[in-house]
Amino acid sequence: MKVLFCSSEVVPYAKTGGLADVAGSLPVYLKKLKIDIRVCLPKYSCVKEKGQKALMAGVVPVHFIENDAYFKREQLYGTKAGDFPDNLERFSFFSKAVLELLKKENFKPDVIHCNDWQTALIPVYLKAIYKDDPFYSGIKTVFTIHNMAYQGVFAKDEYPKLGLGWEYFNIEGFEFYDKVNFMKAGLIFSDFITTVSPTYAKEIQTPEFGCKLEGVLSKRKENLAGILNGIDYDEWNPNFSSPQGKVKNKLALQKERGLPQKADVPLLGVVGRLAHQKGFDLLAEKIDKICAMDVQFVLLGTGDQAIENVLQGIAKKHPKNTSISLKFDAVLAKKIYASSDLLLMPSRYEPCGLGQLISLRYGTIPVVRKTGGLADTITDENGFVFENADSNELLEAIKKALAVYKNKKAWSAMVKKAMEYDFSWGNSAKEYVKLYKRV
Ligand code: ADP
Repeated sequence: MKVLFCSSEVVPYAKTGGLADVAGSLPVYLKKLKIDIRVCLPKYSCVKEKGQKALMAGVVPVHFIENDAYFKREQLYGTKAGDFPDNLERFSFFSKAVLELLKKENFKPDVIHCNDWQTALIPVYLKAIYKDDPFYSGIKTVFTIHNMAYQGVFAKDEYPKLGLGWEYFNIEGFEFYDKVNFMKAGLIFSDFITTVSPTYAKEIQTPEFGCKLEGVLSKRKENLAGILNGIDYDEWNPNFSSPQGKVKNKLALQKERGLPQKADVPLLGVVGRLAHQKGFDLLAEKIDKICAMDVQFVLLGTGDQAIENVLQGIAKKHPKNTSISLKFDAVLAKKIYASSDLLLMPSRYEPCGLGQLISLRYGTIPVVRKTGGLADTITDENGFVFENADSNELLEAIKKALAVYKNKKAWSAMVKKAMEYDFSWGNSAKEYVKLYKRV
């Protein structure tokens, strides 16, 4: 079985979110299951040769699509000021180049596994442009949705740049409220659709979560499945084995972040994109109450300017027990997962969520909203779950967690249990193999 795995971001080369983690780890596990797999991504400026060698040594060949005009940039999709204006061209070019590469390399995959809107044109081009070329005949496509909110929507007058006839610009194709929608076309033209958790697979067929594509998804529900993401257990590998072993990480992080070094103060961690989705505004609403409870609060995130401003205000108001870092920093992220007592994920929606899985690995107990992949992975046994995107419910869940934290024996048992869960790729990778065979 030959598979080409396409993604606009792949760890360790380029990352803005969970997609990169998935693309950098799932293929390695698929390779272990005897899938002849290759990975393809654009060669951005941040792609370093060093990282390249690291993954090549990990036996999955990686192809980089190079085009300086489109990809020689530090950011992947845009800057704080907004998306790059030529994203339609950049990622339609990428999709075509991927298909051309296959022929050039004489690698004919049984399945091309596409991820998110940046690669959604691959199934379309395959069926529209390459359908009569025998090299491409029989190649099937799987399209994985990592987040319905990012669809790749562009103005209609850009459509001709795709090199496709207007016969594909209709309600059964690209057309989306008189605009061009990459993800919509990908959902229609791919042979099978997956998303990253069983609950999110159901949720996206409803108006609340479907981002106006719930109808398209419902129509394809026979060919839509949720497969839970895993994490790379070598990458996220605790430097301790018993709950007590965590304390040295905590003291080190407190020191590094300029917080009083106290082993017994509960440390609440947050890592994530600062977007409305993540519900950090709910946290901000209650931060005065939280800080009044003798806790420490460490946050790492970057994104929405308005949310960053609020967080800066919090840092000023509560300097003694908060540490707010507004940047992207993989090393600090790992320290927070490995040192905190609780990880807060009050997401409004969460396709899968990796933070809670990484946390469990380090015996850090997640406090999550019951949605998407959070609902599929966190229960009363390994975390604290609240129902609605409501700051009072979040505060109650934190209070409940802190009450258990005070009972050393109960807490230690919960941490131990959390560390015993297995959310590595083992099981989910097997599900992908089954799916590739079915397709
Ligand atoms: P999403 O893909 O919606 O951003 P996920 O939970 O699926 O959310 O994945 C987020 C990934 O990005 C995790 O590996 C997380 O540690 C990482 N991450 C998010 N924000 C930052 C940041 N500011 N610095 C470092 N890593 C981050």
